[in-house]
Parts: sequence; structure tokens; C-alpha cells
Amino acid sequence: MKSIQQLDEAFVAHTYKRFPVEIVSGKGSLLFDAQGKEYIDMGSGIAVSSLGIADEGWIRAVTEQLSLVQHTSNLYYTAPGAELAAELCHRTGLKKVFFGNSGAEANECAIKIARKYAAEKKGADYFQIVTLENSFHGRTLATLSATGQEHYHELFQPLVPGFLHTPANDFEAFVKLAEEQKIAAIMMEPVQGEGGVYALDPDFVTRVVDFAKEHDILVIFDEVQTGNGRTGELYGYMNYGVTPDVVTTAKGLGGGLPIGACLLGEKVESVLGYGDHGSTFGGNPVCAAGALHVLSRIDEKMLADVRAKSAYIFGALEGAKGVRSVSGMGLMIGIETEKPAAEVVAACRERGVLCLTAKHKVRLLPALNIPQNVLEKAIEIIKSACAE
Ligand SMILES: *Cc1c(COP(=O)(O)O)cnc(C)c1O
Repeated sequence: MKSIQQLDEAFVAHTYKRFPVEIVSGKGSLLFDAQGKEYIDMGSGIAVSSLGIADEGWIRAVTEQLSLVQHTSNLYYTAPGAELAAELCHRTGLKKVFFGNSGAEANECAIKIARKYAAEKKGADYFQIVTLENSFHGRTLATLSATGQEHYHELFQPLVPGFLHTPANDFEAFVKLAEEQKIAAIMMEPVQGEGGVYALDPDFVTRVVDFAKEHDILVIFDEVQTGNGRTGELYGYMNYGVTPDVVTTAKGLGGGLPIGACLLGEKVESVLGYGDHGSTFGGNPVCAAGALHVLSRIDEKMLADVRAKSAYIFGALEGAKGVRSVSGMGLMIGIETEKPAAEVVAACRERGVLCLTAKHKVRLLPALNIPQNVLEKAIEIIKSACAE
């Protein structure tokens, strides 16, 4: 009999370098492996399990829908998708929602909207979409092309044309690009996640948004990772006091089930017409029911808790032995360590704490409702792993 690790190695495509841990179950912010070892989950499946593992209310919402109907296709009306769209619009002020199944798909929708909007408003040659250097927007060919990191591009030439990259936090560079090129939209993550957990400068964001509005350049926020309470506001852009034209999200929205959403503001709510875009699974009733429950739980109290836990983590880690710097926002934290991040993550894993990396940093993305005592235990272990 092959072990699960051997089976996986033999039959699953080798696109993921996995940690040597087989997770079999979990509860809240705890995970259990095949040997029964307990771990504190400081990654929540890369910002996905926003309410932790096997949350009772979420399970109820999902299983109730599952026992009614699990899928209908988009040829029919179903309640969860309609109610979820209404709730997303109600809480953001945006006007319409397109549902897909992942972050990349949410961004694909935003890219198609930007191209169609600009072609109709300004002409077919206005197709360039500006993204930031060091950004991450997904793995499909278009979102890979949008991603501002060369090393993702190398093996997959030719890329999809129509993407330009500009340095983050350099307003003048963006203006220069916008004056030289025919720009449809700018797309940015409020906090760059995969790129190393860097929050954008508020001044840069407000100036870019003002300039874009003035020149009818669409503002797209990629909130696939920063969305759904992660930064201490419902969406990351809300920390910056700006109004986007398009917001994309996925990861934490479904609480563990695959769902992506592209939220459309007033300018673009009617850009896509019947037949312009679609997805077989998009808006699946089970995923939408889970997402609706997740959103119902992300209230002012939970957001205040996220901000308080964030302040606790910054306070505990800044200036700690072996820690060079701490970055990020809310429960999206990057730790620059003296030791290589991979070594710190391995030492934490040995001691029962699962962390992530982002570039050269240790990255923390715990469940939004991680209990304070569990969080404190994890931070003590992370501190000891950094210090030695
Ligand atoms: C994870 C991520 C994506 C891609 O999402 P998938 O669901 O993996 O397609 C896109 N943008 C950002 C900012 C992300 O963090």
C-alpha cells in the first residue's frame, strides 16, 4: 500500500511543493495531521477559511443548501446567488456582481470589462491595463500577463498583450505612463500579498484614483486576498477612502468553498450584456450560501477584533529578537526575519504552528475569528523560532 504522500507524488502533477504534513481534519484554528498531531493554523488555506475549519454556522448554511439543490446552471434563478449579490452591493455601494469560481476568474472578468468599456468609450486602441510591479493577479494566461513579476512570465511566452507595469507608490511614473500610452484601467492590490505583504501608500492610492477618475481610466482593486474582512475593513480599499469602479474578490469569500466575484460600480454595471461572459459553476448555490453566511459574520465587531488582533501581533513581533520588520494590514502580516523564512516556517511546523511564506518573508493569514489565546500561543512559538 502506498502512503498518501507517495500516491500524491505519483499521480498529482508536480506544481506544488508540499510541506511534509497530511491534514485530515480540523476545528476552528486547529488542524490535525494523519498522526494526530495538532497544529495552530496561521494560514487558513491562504486566507480562505475565514471562519476557521468546520465552523458550525457555516456548515449549517452549506448543508441546508446542499440538501435542497447543489447546482442548477445559470439558466435558472436561485436564491443564494441573488441574495449574495444583493448583500455585496449593499455593503460596498457597488451595483452589480458577476460570479466565477476563483480569484483569477474574477480578474479575467474585470479585464474583459475594462477592455469593452474603454473600446466603447474611447476607441479600440485604448486596451492597455496598468498593474503594479511585484503584483500578483493569478495563473491564467491573462492574469499571469497582468502579474507584474517577470519570473512568472518566462516559461509562457507569448503573453496576452495589453498589460503595462509601473512601480508601486510612484505616482509620477504612473502619470508618465498614462500620458504616453492608451490606458483602459489600472488594477492594484491594496496590500500586495504574494509579493511580500506590502500595503500601498495612502497618498499614492488617492492620487492615482483621482487622476484615473479625471481621465476616465477604470480603477480596479484586486481584493482576492485582501477582501472579506482580512485587512480589518470589509474590503481593503475601504482603508483608503476611495471608490473603485471594479472590485474583484475570491479566497475568503466562500469560507472554504470556491467562489470568485467581480463587483461592478456605476460606470461599468451595464458594460457586459447577455452572452458577453459566463461560467458554468459561477454563483453555485452551495458556494453562495456559504459566502452569504461568511458575510453575515463579518460585522463591525468582527472587523474591530481583526484590527485589535493585528495591533497585538505588530506589538508582539516588532523589535522581537530575530525579527527585522513587520508589514501588512489587519490579519495579513509579513515578517522579515534574520533567518531565512523557510527555516522559521519549518521550526514553527515542528512546534505545531503552520505559517506561510511570501517572497523572503514569513506570512501570517490566520482565520478572522482565531481565539486570542490560540493566537498568543502561536505568536510565542513564532517568536521563539525567529529568536534562536
Ligand atoms: C490568490 C490571488 C489571486 C488568484 O486567485 P486564484 O483563486 O488562485 O485564482 C489573484 N489575485 C490575488 C491578489 C491573489 O492573492
